[in-house]
Amino acid sequence: MAECIFCKIVSGEIPADKVWEDDHAVAFRDIRPIAPVHVLIVPRAHRESFADLTAEDAPFLASLARAIGEIAEKEGVARSGYRLISNTGPDAGQEVFHLHVHLLGGRPLGPMLKKA
Ligand code: AMP
Repeated sequence: MAECIFCKIVSGEIPADKVWEDDHAVAFRDIRPIAPVHVLIVPRAHRESFADLTAEDAPFLASLARAIGEIAEKEGVARSGYRLISNTGPDAGQEVFHLHVHLLGGRPLGPMLKKA
């Protein structure tokens, strides 16, 4: 998608600190990290969110699973633990409308959600 910032990172049009990639997914460090390890894993193909995925995206889901394991090992959080978050839609506060999974770790992350 022409105006999508993560499509531009995937294509190399704008720089990012890439830590992992294969034919279906790319992972790079979040530009505003909120934990010592804060990596975003995205599909190469533009998909707005998990709600957009179809059976055709199975190869991406396989890559995502591999990326999570390999990045957690490489970043040293496989044993200490980490959290995966994918904000989907307005109530979740999604800011970038190209599917991404945040991989966060490197410190105790606290409760999953603050009480409303
Ligand atoms: P969200 O859509 O709320 O799940 O989060 C979007 C995330 O993308 C935020 O954590 C941003 O800091 C991150 N982000 C936005 N632009 C860039 C960029 N150019 N490079 C890396 N991370 C980015």
